[in-house]
Amino acid sequence: MERAQLDIDKHFMQLAINESKLGNYPYGAILVKDNEVKFRAHNSASTDPTAHAEVALIRTATQQLGHPSLKGYTLYTSSESCPMCAAAEIWAHVDRVVFGASIQQLIEVAQQDQIFLQSNIVNSLWTGELVTVGKIRGAYELTGGILAEEALQVFAEWKQKQQDAGQS
Ligand SMILES: [Zn+2]
Repeated sequence: MERAQLDIDKHFMQLAINESKLGNYPYGAILVKDNEVKFRAHNSASTDPTAHAEVALIRTATQQLGHPSLKGYTLYTSSESCPMCAAAEIWAHVDRVVFGASIQQLIEVAQQDQIFLQSNIVNSLWTGELVTVGKIRGAYELTGGILAEEALQVFAEWKQKQQDAGQS
């Protein structure tokens, strides 16, 4: 990856990580187009188990845009998308997805419940011969591991806060 692109990715990932601090669980995502943040969202899955940051973000963006396509957008998410969100990103036709902490790190380091199906696998399934929406829309470009330690640090702080609240 070009140095300039890596710097850009780190800049926007930091903003997604900042957004993750607002969630009831520490997951945040932003949508970027023409090097500008257009939409942001965090996890709000308290009663709706599908309200992950990425799904919330896609809903907000497409509602405001008034159409179902996010072509031309890059989605930055503080943590690798679960299979539900990875599929939603394909339905939404985003050009590129960039994530911080991986699903494996979420499970092993942050002790988060996750469906262990990595987003590159979900993404590649959609380009297969049998999945017609993949043929129409194509897979997105995927980059992972940007500021992963910083993303995981938010989980550690969040856990500490939960523990402190439990003790008081
Ligand atoms: Zn998800």
